[in-house]
Amino acid sequence: MLLLEAGADFAGSTSFPAELLDASAMAGAADGHAANWGLDARLTDSRSITVPRGKVMGGSSTVNGGVFVRATPGDFDRWAVLGNDAWSFAAVLPFLKRLEDDRDFGDDEFHGRGGPMPVTRSAPSEHHQLSQAFLAACADLGFAEELDKNGPGAAGYGALPRNIVDGVRVNAAMAYIAPHRDRANLTIESQVVARRVVFHDRRAVGVEVERSGAIETFNGAEIVLCAGAVMSPHLLLLSGVGPAEQLRHHGITVVADLPGVGTRCCDHPQVFLGFEPAQPIPRRVTAGVVEVGLDTMVDGAPVALMPYLAPMAELVPGSGASSVELVIGVLLERAANAVEIALASGDPRIPPVIDYHSLESVSDRANLKAAAEIGLAILDSPAMSGLCVRRTAPAAGADLDAWIRENITTAVHLCSSAPMGPDADPLAVVDQYCRVRGVDGLRVADTSVLPSAPSRGPACTAVLIGERAAEFFTATTA
Ligand SMILES: Cc1cc2nc3c(=O)[nH]c(=O)nc-3n(C[C@H](O)[C@H](O)[C@H](O)COP(=O)(O)OP(=O)(O)OC[C@H]3O[C@@H](n4cnc5c(N)ncnc54)[C@H](O)[C@@H]3O)c2cc1C
Repeated sequence: MLLLEAGADFAGSTSFPAELLDASAMAGAADGHAANWGLDARLTDSRSITVPRGKVMGGSSTVNGGVFVRATPGDFDRWAVLGNDAWSFAAVLPFLKRLEDDRDFGDDEFHGRGGPMPVTRSAPSEHHQLSQAFLAACADLGFAEELDKNGPGAAGYGALPRNIVDGVRVNAAMAYIAPHRDRANLTIESQVVARRVVFHDRRAVGVEVERSGAIETFNGAEIVLCAGAVMSPHLLLLSGVGPAEQLRHHGITVVADLPGVGTRCCDHPQVFLGFEPAQPIPRRVTAGVVEVGLDTMVDGAPVALMPYLAPMAELVPGSGASSVELVIGVLLERAANAVEIALASGDPRIPPVIDYHSLESVSDRANLKAAAEIGLAILDSPAMSGLCVRRTAPAAGADLDAWIRENITTAVHLCSSAPMGPDADPLAVVDQYCRVRGVDGLRVADTSVLPSAPSRGPACTAVLIGERAAEFFTATTA
């Protein structure tokens, strides 16, 4: 087995640079950091951003916020009803248990012990004062407490499951690759950029790559794309798998006409409500970037609110953000708008076009506004009054609709850019066993394959996809 990675490789926890291990910041997500692809994206006519994506062994799990929460049972069952019964909650629960080492709940009906990914929660006695005030405000506003965000109970406020141990973000490479590096049947090549899949007729037979400026081809009996929700569809398109008209426009020979590549992508729109704290709150290494959150519904759409534990300038060094203001992230976890990922060029060195179409849907605007109103109620609550001197974003009296339009951003939880689905789904790119339709010998195994974004952050579901896909590769039925 040959594993190719565009970014740097680090053998284990001791060799990762300390700044990538430090879970109290997201150093690798900074613009220009070597571990970040930093992809330009259009949000609206007046707003664009640089989307961070991990370019390092472990991918985005090496640069992310460390929140490691499961998709809800309802998410899995929704995907199963669409024709993907291998992804029902009952079908995936054994794999959710297998992937984790839950240090709080241990081995029971819903949790697992001894798996590769540690799952920890900060105890109430350790909570940062901002987390405590946030939780108290949620209680005062009448929301329910959720004692286990990885359990089957109703949504509410509580501690977030995280893949953090003693302040270290345990990324997927540390959990899944480091223990197996010495296997005789595994070769790891880093700083190698895949350019396209090579086909003989409709069978994938290899991958063309660029290494140190030279172009080479690696052959393989089966090719698995795990390049993430932006780069996997980009590689499919560059390889002739995608909407035929788009491929021809860029001079690419069509291998399989799959209109769903890059056209049905999902993300979680986000705004940050800001406030000036009464006094600087010292960053605590073990607290992480965020440790508690509220999950709830507005008009049938799941939304999440989370207080970040330090000013953005400290969380993402070099971001140019305020070094004083603290923020509550407000996420819409089921957006109606699809994000589009398309070729800018047939040249593999040119990144794809990412167009968010943010807030084009009336329901997204209404739901994000309703979620922001919950956040403002939290900030204005008596429980927060000791910490919050004044609201800075939006300022008191500002028009909330206009403020959201000017400040919309994303949680960078991209999914569904090569979605799974049954034969009857014209936009399905892979079947439920991750096999790319219309070709042989090619699979996709990352968050691209989800039929839609989960109602929670996708990091845990990304690992689940790896566990599930590993079984499909060896199962005779798939
Ligand atoms: C800054 C940030 C914060 C986040 N915070 C959270 C959070 O707290 N909780 C949560 O649930 N989710 C979070 N996410 C999202 C979550 O981390 C990702 O959804 C998850 O890690 C899976 O990402 P992915 O599927 O896009 O693949 P990735 O993890 O990005 O992996 C793709 C891998 O493929 C490599 N690759 C790409 N193209 C090529 C190529 N052409 N050749 C060779 N290799 C290539 C990349 O370098 C990378 O290693 C965050 C994401 C970011 C960026």
